[in-house]
Amino acid sequence: MNLVWFRKDLRIIDNPALTEASKNGPFKAIFISTPEQWHKHDMAPIQIDFLERHLNLLQSQLAELGVELVHIEASNFDSQISSLSSYIAANNIDNVYANSEVEFNEQLRDKKIIDLGISIKLSESDVIVPKGKVRNGSSEMYKVFTPFRNNWLKYLLANDYSVCDYPHLLQQTSPVTQDINFNANKSCSKKWPLVNVVYDSIIENFISNKLFNYSELRDIPSVKGTSGLSPYIAIGAISPKYLLSQVLANYPHILDNAAASEFTWINELAWRDFYKHLLFHFPDLCKSQTFIQKYNDLPWNNNEVHFKLWCQGNTGYPIVDAAMRQLINTGWMHNRLRMIVASFLTKHLLIDWRWGERFFMQHLLDGDLSANNGGWQWAASTGCDAQPYFRIFNPITQSKKFDPKGEFIRMYVPELKDIPDKEIHFPHEYLSRNGLSKQYVEPVVNHKDAREQALAFYKV
Ligand code: FAD
Repeated sequence: MNLVWFRKDLRIIDNPALTEASKNGPFKAIFISTPEQWHKHDMAPIQIDFLERHLNLLQSQLAELGVELVHIEASNFDSQISSLSSYIAANNIDNVYANSEVEFNEQLRDKKIIDLGISIKLSESDVIVPKGKVRNGSSEMYKVFTPFRNNWLKYLLANDYSVCDYPHLLQQTSPVTQDINFNANKSCSKKWPLVNVVYDSIIENFISNKLFNYSELRDIPSVKGTSGLSPYIAIGAISPKYLLSQVLANYPHILDNAAASEFTWINELAWRDFYKHLLFHFPDLCKSQTFIQKYNDLPWNNNEVHFKLWCQGNTGYPIVDAAMRQLINTGWMHNRLRMIVASFLTKHLLIDWRWGERFFMQHLLDGDLSANNGGWQWAASTGCDAQPYFRIFNPITQSKKFDPKGEFIRMYVPELKDIPDKEIHFPHEYLSRNGLSKQYVEPVVNHKDAREQALAFYKV
């Protein structure tokens, strides 16, 4: 009897560990939850709930295929190892099949398992191009995205990405399923449908009807111009390879046409791979280190009052406040807004990007260390191929450009719902002229002064 150990890969389609196990006789499946570890890693309660719902779904999908999925609760990674060992001994397991995880502690855990002599066969399921396969002429990881992407693309063209693996599941017994309930702090994620609905309609609809104008709409937060798939990708309910195969089914020549709107979306999947490859090559990124080492100990201001105002969405900059309130209330934030609020925290408020990174992890439904760390270090100019330090987003200009009529702002900052379009991006003068100053918070900093301070700070 073999065992498939599910982690953040809660899916049947394109799950290499499951496919491998299915080629080698009967197997059971296991998921070992680690609430204490999740808490340590700042996993958001909404993501825990989402994971739990998807584990229950996977359990019933596997049961239909005659595979039993058992849930065991451990606390941290060490107790995960002892739970696994006990289960192996009690159930006469020969081999464990699992997909590797790139993060540092997860790698360490798997090394300990191998050192204990447990037969664990690790596959790779979290990237499109295997980590380590995209290297420059000196056989090193690229430090700039575009040449990485070009080489990544060459790999796609040289390999067949049009189909995905489906496991050869043999009908085994008919297991009984039991409701899985994580013993952890959770918050309701039900506004997001289960992934079976996403497979049945949302992916196809996005690829057929929205991809052609993705490049035009993806920066407008009031419009649903992006896929909204990140929560499913983050818990591994959908694989990025599967998504690529679906795009290729609709646009077979897309990889030869980097100028097409549809390719812009593939480019985002490449960014995702880029950040995963970075963690693989530079594991210190998992330990809160900056990619550009000279920026490790920048003397951030770290004003706690300012941080709190940012967290609450009370900075007096409407686009920043709307974005932060979207995060707190829904567990998700549009990509353009993530860039704006991250830039605001690090450059306008001079608060350590690690504070923002942590707050995001604690609230995001799609929290993922590599993408989150990559995004934060990009915005703070401390990362690999990051925004140059002197590029400081003006939150008012960004607001005018990407939310011209204030439609997004009005959704999340109701106190500004009646402000005229042209005033809404920075309404303070208008409010004061009309005796309405009390209606909305004062700006936490003055943009011009903050910009100058940031330039001086980074220069030093
Ligand atoms: P789409 O535009 O439809 O893109 C498709 C997929 O590509 C996404 O689902 C995602 O998996 C991937 N992707 C898109 N943009 C990026 C990117 N810039 N970097 C890496 N992958 C990308 N993404 C996360 O999945 N988890 C995070 O914790 C996370 N934190 C971020 C923090 C900051 C400061 C920034 C600037 C970005 C962060 N991102 C993160 C990246 C990006 O904002 C989200 O992936 C995107 O908003 C998800 O929406 P979508 O699924 O509609 O994306």
